[in-house]
Amino acid sequence: MTRIHIKELHPHINSEVTLAGWVDVHRDHGKLIFIDLRDVSGKVQMVALPFNKEAHEQAGTLRNEWVIEIRGKVNKRPEKMRNDKEPNGDIEIELLEVTVLNESKTPPFEINSDTSQVDENLRLKYRYLDLRSERMQHNIKLRSEFVHIAREYLRNQNFIEIETPLLTATTPEGSRDFVVPSRLNRGKFYALPQSPQQYKQLLMTAGFERYMQLARCIRDEDLRADRGFEFTQIDLEMSFVTPDDVMRMVEDMMIHTVEKMGFTIRQKPFPRITYKEVMEKYGTDKFDMRTDEEKERRVLAYAWVIEFPFFEKTDTGAWTFTHNPFSMPIPEHVDMLLKGESVANILTTQYDLVCNGYESAGGSIRAHRRDILEATYRIMGYTKEQTEKSVGHILEAFELGTPPHGGIALGVERNIMNLTGETALREVQAFPMTRGGQTAVMENAPGELTTEQLLELGISIIKQKPT
Ligand code: ASP
Repeated sequence: MTRIHIKELHPHINSEVTLAGWVDVHRDHGKLIFIDLRDVSGKVQMVALPFNKEAHEQAGTLRNEWVIEIRGKVNKRPEKMRNDKEPNGDIEIELLEVTVLNESKTPPFEINSDTSQVDENLRLKYRYLDLRSERMQHNIKLRSEFVHIAREYLRNQNFIEIETPLLTATTPEGSRDFVVPSRLNRGKFYALPQSPQQYKQLLMTAGFERYMQLARCIRDEDLRADRGFEFTQIDLEMSFVTPDDVMRMVEDMMIHTVEKMGFTIRQKPFPRITYKEVMEKYGTDKFDMRTDEEKERRVLAYAWVIEFPFFEKTDTGAWTFTHNPFSMPIPEHVDMLLKGESVANILTTQYDLVCNGYESAGGSIRAHRRDILEATYRIMGYTKEQTEKSVGHILEAFELGTPPHGGIALGVERNIMNLTGETALREVQAFPMTRGGQTAVMENAPGELTTEQLLELGISIIKQKPT
């Protein structure tokens, strides 16, 4: 008999089925042995009755987390034994035959309850067990659904999905790069992408007009609850667009996606608020507009923030970009940028989508002309030579028919945190890092290289810490 999934049991009432999965709970009452079976689709209670001698004996040997296949009869539970809260609370499997596919040692923590209170290092060392828990299964499946619906939406809007390199040159996104040594070019290093920013702009030069990618971004940042070294963006870029075109595209995609998933949005169309107003009203640009009652109902309160200052001062008093050096200023301020005048007042075309206190997405219309990007770098204190070295390739592309363009990136994890109500990034990633930057399960990363590897790469390690 072919195996079916637990969520498909109802049409099989009064007939025999084959199921496979994990022992979630095992309760031995002597005569009656109850076993809750779990698979990817749900749980069901099974019972071994004493007159079914062989199955009863086999059931008695089972322990939590053993992997089993069973043959059983789907019975309707007597009225008073029904549990309306469970999808399978009205049925029960009468065990006819049990096959053990794999035994399991006692797991280091309980999987059949919420694992959020379990020690983080233990959870991550055994992440594959943690992921087996109901909450983690829910979070990861919800993430998959969100990404799937959004991607399908964009595909229907004629976006072309294009992968960009992971081994690349540094792109300024305001963080440190992770670097990768080159064996072929000893002493030289690639950078892992902080985002595909420059490549997606070059894809506009290449004439694709609408690009999208589920892009992995890697940034060497201080680890916090809502920040990891790696995260995923739904990354977009569009040619011949205004800020409004990009904002509307993302807004429609979000509304379509989250409403399809059953969530409620507080206000449509999303309100648009200037950075100045937001700071006066909330004191932060990642604000939460929900009432307590809306928080309880997990309503999604989206809003756009616009008209950010383009530049801010660093500790050393130099100007740096607030969001993205590749942005275009608002049309009225292009002249100020080109002349480098009243820098503090230049506003960028940046638009950020905020939801429930988190940044959900951020993007801008880009500079597509050499003089504009050069002016941005000049304001940031770059000489002509330094600018050329840093972004010469893209300046060159701007002189070879780059169309006006703009885009946005939507942080997958931040959005899933909002949808699940989780407050830590690691609750919505399958294999996140520990707070100490150690990889989950594979505890040997980051690890040391062998002398042979170092020699091949032409690297010698300096042990002392920089002062
Ligand atoms: N590259 C930007 C980021 O990673 C997003 C964008 O402007 O498209 O934040």
